[in-house]
Amino acid sequence: MTKGRIFSGMQPSGRFHLGNYLGALENWVKLQRDYECFFSIVDWHALTSSYEDTSKIPERIHDMALDWLSAGLDPEKSVIFVQSHVKEHAELHLLLSMMTPLSWLERVPTYKDKLQQLGEQGKDINTYGFLGYPELMTADIILYKADTVPVGEDQLPHLELSREIIRRFNYLYQPIFPEPAGMLSKSSVLPGIDGRKMSKSYGNEIPFAGSAEEITARVRLMVTDPQRVKRTDKGNPDVCNVYTFHKLFNQEQCSEISIACRAAEIGCVDCKKRLAAQMVEQLAPMHEKRLELSAKPAMVAEILHAGAERARKVAQDTMAEVRSAMHLG
Ligand code: ADP
Repeated sequence: MTKGRIFSGMQPSGRFHLGNYLGALENWVKLQRDYECFFSIVDWHALTSSYEDTSKIPERIHDMALDWLSAGLDPEKSVIFVQSHVKEHAELHLLLSMMTPLSWLERVPTYKDKLQQLGEQGKDINTYGFLGYPELMTADIILYKADTVPVGEDQLPHLELSREIIRRFNYLYQPIFPEPAGMLSKSSVLPGIDGRKMSKSYGNEIPFAGSAEEITARVRLMVTDPQRVKRTDKGNPDVCNVYTFHKLFNQEQCSEISIACRAAEIGCVDCKKRLAAQMVEQLAPMHEKRLELSAKPAMVAEILHAGAERARKVAQDTMAEVRSAMHLG
């Protein structure tokens, strides 16, 4: 049986956090066993919503590569590369943009929401590039003829649009591209320290590569059961953000903590200390690996360079087919 092919990418737009790790990377690491995987640090995508100051991009790409490799992505198994190193992404994006009706892009539900949200933060992203974000994502996926795309639920409308664009291409020119299917990851949305979805844009994240002090300090700020005001009040772990994290990072002590919390035998301060200690312990092997890799920047650059070479070979073959189907040179 031939392996399916996966494409997935992530923007180097800030520090990689635990939501990114548990919501995406942990799953990618498992997928490497059963699929042919292309994982891309999509730096051009990062420009679609933040284009003024590009000075931090190189550093963020390097950091993201360190995060991915220390979390278990393996360049022997997967093709790991930077989007802008493979210029074919831009060529295919351009060609797709010629045949995609504007109304298809404008009706993506996240488009208007994000435009408004970032507008309120004083960011002007009323740009051609931002509107074309799903177009670039489509190019990313089909350049490698990926048949499977791991996505979060919020990404499903983008993928549906990709499938429409692909059908249009296949109908107008030649049926070159498979329609990719979305693979919803099983893990649910990880909350941040304030209880909302963990996200860079909310500033509520716990950094994946944070030091023990930093992780402990972030955990200390976590919201708990709002009804539990005093140490002597009995708590309800079911509505406590800290307990959600205990379930993920501290399964062994979970039931004991739950009982102690309900009986007011453990206070939130101690409960958080125990959580932070477990998180630090579980992240430690990955942090160690990250430290080793960060001492070898040339090796990391070489991994990305070799990944781009492998990606480019596939991308060039696809573009030869596309140009021929469209009668272009
Ligand atoms: P952010 O919201 O911090 O900007 P991104 O949108 O760049 O994060 O997300 C990159 C990847 O990480 C996506 O696959 C997304 O589904 C996943 N992800 C981000 N935040 C979370 C979260 N809180 N819980 C689960 N997965 C998440």
